[in-house]
Amino acid sequence: MCVPGCQEAVRAALSRRGFFKGAAVAGFAAAAVGPAEAAPRRFKAAVDLTHTMSPAFPTFFGVPGIELQKQFDFKKDGFNLNWWRIVEHAGTHLDAPLHFSENGKAVEAIAASELVVPLAVVDVRAQAARNADYLVSVADLRAYEKKHRRLPDNCCVAMLSGWATHAGDAAKYTGKDAAGSFHFPGFAPEAAEWLMKERKVMGLAVDTLSLDNGASKDFRTHRLWLPSGRWGLENVANLDKVPASGATLVVGLAKVKDATGAPARLLALV
Ligand SMILES: [Zn+2]
Repeated sequence: MCVPGCQEAVRAALSRRGFFKGAAVAGFAAAAVGPAEAAPRRFKAAVDLTHTMSPAFPTFFGVPGIELQKQFDFKKDGFNLNWWRIVEHAGTHLDAPLHFSENGKAVEAIAASELVVPLAVVDVRAQAARNADYLVSVADLRAYEKKHRRLPDNCCVAMLSGWATHAGDAAKYTGKDAAGSFHFPGFAPEAAEWLMKERKVMGLAVDTLSLDNGASKDFRTHRLWLPSGRWGLENVANLDKVPASGATLVVGLAKVKDATGAPARLLALV
C-alpha cells in the first residue's frame, strides 16, 4: 500500500539519478544511468539518525541490548564472524504494531513504501530542559504547523527533546530515580490521538527510550498508536542536524519474520 503523498516522497528520495549523483559511486552511476545524463540532484546529503549499537547503550530493561560472540577469528579461521544475541527493542530501533497488539503487523509485514516518508521534527528542547517528564502536546503540534507547514500525509512526526546528547550517560539518559522510575520526555497520549484522528501520520519517533515518557506506567501512547497499524522509532539520533520540515526519512530494517521490533539504520535525506 502506498497512500497519497508517499509515492511522491519515494520518488523524490530514491530517484536513481539523484541517488547516484549524491553517492560516492561514480563508476557504478556511470554504468547505471549513462555518463551523459545530467539530472538535478534530489537531495544534498544523507544524515545518519542512528546511534551506534553496543552492549553499553542504555536500555529500558537495564541489560545489554546486544551481545557479540566471536565464532570465527581471522587469524585462526581465515575470516571473522560473530553471533549476535539482541533485544528487539534496544538502540535505535523500530516498534512494529505487533509490539502492543495481539495480531498487529510484525516487522516483515511493514511495506517498503511505509518506510520512506516525509520527516517532521518537533523541537521541544526548551520544554524538556525544564521538565524531564515533558510530554509533546497537541499545542506543540499546532505550533509546529503554524511555524512550518501542515504535517504532510504519511509523515513521521519526530520529537526532538535533546536527549540524544545524553546517550553516553545511562543515568542521565534514563533519568532513573531512587524508586526505579525513569524520567525522560515522550509523546502525550492526547497528541498521539490527535495525530491519528486529525492528520494522516505513518509513524512517531523519539530521541528517548520510549514513545511514552519515562514516568509513564500505563504506556498509553504505545497502546493507542501501535495497535492502529502505525509504527514507532525510539532512540533516534541527530534530529538536531536535519530541518524541521522537508527531509525524507528512510527506515532501514532487519526484515525478520514475526519480530515485534528491529534494529534500524535511519537516514534522513536532506
Ligand atoms: Zn521499542
